[in-house]
Amino acid sequence: MPSNLRIDPERLWLALMETAAIGGTAKGGINRQTLTAEDGVVRGWFRREAEALGCKVTVDEVGNMLALRPGRRADLAPIALGSHLDTQPTGGKFDGNLGVLGALEALRTLVAVGYETNAPFVVVNWTNEEGARFAPAMLGSGVFAGVYSRAQADAIADIEGLRFGEALDGIGWRGEAKAGMPLSAYLELHIEQGPILEAEDKTIGVVTGVQGVRWYEASITGRESHAGTTPMPRRADAMVACARLALEVQKIALAHAPTAVGTVGRVEVEPNSPNVIPGVVRMTVDLRHHDDATLEAMEKALYAAVAAIAGEAKVQIETRKLHDLAAIKFHPDCVAAVRAAADALGHAHRDIISGAGHDAVHLSRVTPTAMIFVPCKDGLSHNEAESATLEHCAAGAQVLLEAALALDANLGAR
Ligand SMILES: [Zn+2]
Repeated sequence: MPSNLRIDPERLWLALMETAAIGGTAKGGINRQTLTAEDGVVRGWFRREAEALGCKVTVDEVGNMLALRPGRRADLAPIALGSHLDTQPTGGKFDGNLGVLGALEALRTLVAVGYETNAPFVVVNWTNEEGARFAPAMLGSGVFAGVYSRAQADAIADIEGLRFGEALDGIGWRGEAKAGMPLSAYLELHIEQGPILEAEDKTIGVVTGVQGVRWYEASITGRESHAGTTPMPRRADAMVACARLALEVQKIALAHAPTAVGTVGRVEVEPNSPNVIPGVVRMTVDLRHHDDATLEAMEKALYAAVAAIAGEAKVQIETRKLHDLAAIKFHPDCVAAVRAAADALGHAHRDIISGAGHDAVHLSRVTPTAMIFVPCKDGLSHNEAESATLEHCAAGAQVLLEAALALDANLGAR
């Protein structure tokens, strides 16, 4: 049975639209990149709203904001709900925002009726989830989870050479608290950023995990020579090898359809001249799957393709692995709580794997974690046209609240 607590859909929508105006763009999106003046403004908004609910807002050493509402039992570690309020330069209204504002709405609902949870509840705004300005993405949650140190974060420079630490001090949102604290669980509500829920007319995605990602760079060395005078059989064309490898990457992903994906996203050609046979091509390969064993098989296939193409195209290919993020399986108890909440509320739902990284990935290393997805129009995200309905946002926030209360009830029973 669901609780008799109901979030207020209009109030949630109002918060989404009110904050969307901070960094709002002419095309209806948001440009509120991390640690900009606009980020500072929305942070101020979040702090005021949380404090008005009686929360104590703590800002940690990398700017993560944690709004805590005490529970009945101080011996229990908090249940955290959150996401991020930073956006891409041409971001939408829902990516990240729905997770923070949905969590805030859940808290408002508890406060409105004076509902006492067993554990403290914390609503979190993670710093720099997007990584648009300071790579890598999911930085604040990464420091919180001990994946990166504060010093590593501080040293990251943006494209103009400004460091993360300077930018954080610059907007005045570096806190005293050390990043990281024990949590009982973490739940994150997010738009799907993909087309599956909409296509299948499901309201809720029960996110069971996040796919693994491996990035490679292949440097192909052939022989530069004149495009007019070099007969075809005498060529060692690095671009042809690159093109063949790109097709192999597509084949490797299709061999594990429909769940695997493979992408060649960046190609640099030397000398990049119309009448010179390319001597050097550097290309990236991105392989993803939710199962590490499959990803391993895809990697083997990639290396085999590289060896075969190098021989046939008479080029040298050196590969380097840039990134290896293991697939994440969310905690069965948290996943079950989300599924049960969606069931109890009568929402059409399905299990789903996240294709994108989220703060929940890092949190899952330090606490039981799960995510809730709701549909977004045409699966579009990282786009000013990103769109989700009031009904879907409200359903997601209600599932978030129910799942959190179920986890809290289990803690109380211990
Ligand atoms: Zn996001």
